[in-house]
Amino acid sequence: MKVLVINCGSSSLKYQLIDSDTEELLAKGLCERIAVDGRLTHTTTGKEKYTKDLPMPDHNAAVSYVLEALTDKETGAITDLSEIDAVGHRIVHGGEKFAKSVVITDEVIAAIEECNDLAPLHNPANLIGIRACQKLMPGVPNVGVFDTAFHQTMPDKAYIYGIPYEYYTDYKIRRYGFHGTSHSFVSKRTAELLGKNIEDTKIIVCHLGNGSSITAVKGGKSVDTTMGLTPLAGVIMGTRSGDIDPAIIEFLANKTGKNIEEINTILNKKSGVYGLSGGFSDFRDLGKGMEEGNDRCRLALDVFAYGVKKYIGAYAAAMGGVDAIAFTAGIGENNPYVRNLAMSDMEYMGITIDQEANKVMGDEKQISTPDSKVKVFVVPTNEELAIARETVALV
Ligand code: ADP
Repeated sequence: MKVLVINCGSSSLKYQLIDSDTEELLAKGLCERIAVDGRLTHTTTGKEKYTKDLPMPDHNAAVSYVLEALTDKETGAITDLSEIDAVGHRIVHGGEKFAKSVVITDEVIAAIEECNDLAPLHNPANLIGIRACQKLMPGVPNVGVFDTAFHQTMPDKAYIYGIPYEYYTDYKIRRYGFHGTSHSFVSKRTAELLGKNIEDTKIIVCHLGNGSSITAVKGGKSVDTTMGLTPLAGVIMGTRSGDIDPAIIEFLANKTGKNIEEINTILNKKSGVYGLSGGFSDFRDLGKGMEEGNDRCRLALDVFAYGVKKYIGAYAAAMGGVDAIAFTAGIGENNPYVRNLAMSDMEYMGITIDQEANKVMGDEKQISTPDSKVKVFVVPTNEELAIARETVALV
């Protein structure tokens, strides 16, 4: 089967065409600046990558350019749209309604719409992508794969906040967690690397990218995760604050005269390692800054790695032990310095890092010593492949 995987953001659309039989990537690309002007970057495997400026007043236009790019006689990956058997959509928030991926129907669309206020920037864009595919590829099944679904197995003690219970029943305020597709994919692969049945494993997955989250996966099920009602919670991130004392918001409002929206923007866009270092959100720049003697880059890296370490300790406690820790996503896969810092002084827990193995960037590898009781791995994530697999399983 050929599966088109679509990830719609508010002004962007990422896509991959995957042959699900061989799990081969046939083509991939990105539409940017949707509703601004529009730019498509496309690569068919084995052919040259190209970028074109194209008018994209909305996501419908973007999807139609994607379909044209995929079927282009010279630069495309398929000859006809009828070769696409199904479309898998990444959907950010499924609330409590979706614990699994689903085939999209009118009822499903209505239920996703009901989750819009939980992810006002993301869910409406995801829905636009779904509707555009329904319109442009009538008859082709669409499947929704939710970032939150994998975490629906958390016990209530892990997802309830210590605020009046009515806020949970009335407004569904609770921990949901995100990056679920990645945590699921990576924990499954880690169990394989351990050579164990996933039901018998306790795994901590550290998905460290621009957005970062850590999940405790016990017996293949998410039992706790660092992100919360929104992806702002947990460890500090590229530009997001992660966990802070909630009283800081009122304190800041009084000190600066800023309103809630302005402070929310600061917590989302101007905080994290960006805010600490004074303008560096990319971890490569932070590393370079630190080497050049910039102490705030050093501080940002220290705070980030310390946060990861604390959650590893917390989740080992939550699960009553840990068999393996997996590092994934841009930083987890490519940053030996951060991995080493987060894993330092943990021999007491049975964690010993092999410094030579930990030099790995971007490849799957065991980075703990052979005698380390807890195994530590780098496991590259592949959310698109995971979405394609889910899509095939449902259609
Ligand atoms: P997103 O959450 O946007 O998907 P990513 O998973 O791409 O984020 O992670 C982005 C981070 O990963 C950046 O801080 C960057 O420094 C780091 N990163 C990504 N690729 C590499 C690489 N090849 N080498 C070193 N660092 C990388």
